[in-house]
Amino acid sequence: MRLSKKTLIIIGVFFISSIILLKISLDSVYRLPILMYHSIDYTTDKKNKMMISPEVFAKQMRYLHDHGYNVIPLEKALSYIRDRKKPPAKTVAITIDDGYDDNYVYAYPILKEYHISTTIFIITDLVNKEGFMNWKQIKEMSESGIIDIESHTKSHLWLTGLNDDDLKDQLQGSKKILEEKLGKEIKYVCYPMGGFDERVKQAAREAGYRAGFATKPRRMFTMYDVYEIKRVRISPTADNPLVFAIKISGYHSFIRAFQSEHKDRPYLLWKRKRSS
Ligand SMILES: [Zn+2]
Repeated sequence: MRLSKKTLIIIGVFFISSIILLKISLDSVYRLPILMYHSIDYTTDKKNKMMISPEVFAKQMRYLHDHGYNVIPLEKALSYIRDRKKPPAKTVAITIDDGYDDNYVYAYPILKEYHISTTIFIITDLVNKEGFMNWKQIKEMSESGIIDIESHTKSHLWLTGLNDDDLKDQLQGSKKILEEKLGKEIKYVCYPMGGFDERVKQAAREAGYRAGFATKPRRMFTMYDVYEIKRVRISPTADNPLVFAIKISGYHSFIRAFQSEHKDRPYLLWKRKRSS
């Protein structure tokens, strides 16, 4: 009888400890999902990872809306990141890069319908060019209360390869143009093709940006540096509801990092390197 009681206590302590450890482990790899879209249009090129159809986009926005997701503006997402606080479950943020005209034609009506906050990063040199939005459309969205317009530099160059003057021009120039055209502060920059280094981050800071957004999630990034915010790419594969569910879970970056770390030695999982 005594032994049985002792055993039960041990099992109970073990069980509770396991739950606590699992919770701590999950919390440590959680990253607020900031989704990254590009073009929302029709394409016949199945290999185009940057374009999803308006139907798929509508389906995904409807899913977020119908399943009670809290789609927060970037400002709010950044406050969680700065404060190192885990947001409530089902929190996501949405960004769209490059400023294609399909954003206005297809994405904007859907975002309005579900009242979903979204940030669009604009390449100022491409405004009014074929395939891209014009200032009238950008201004209308900026004043809608739903879309936040931010900078994707002047001409979408690989920033780490630029000299200091050109880098400054790309960052400060686009900020100035957008602020003049839209009459609001431009707070964030999105690095073209995700290219950044410490010099680019410093230049973004000096240009007056409060945060810098990258593209591809690297290995286990800290996510606390607001000048290298990683995002989750939504490509056509996310048409699969399971893939989309993983991408908005907050654990996608961890799964990706784990996959890439083990891709060459799938049978040696226990020998995982501890370097970070
Ligand atoms: Zn881009």
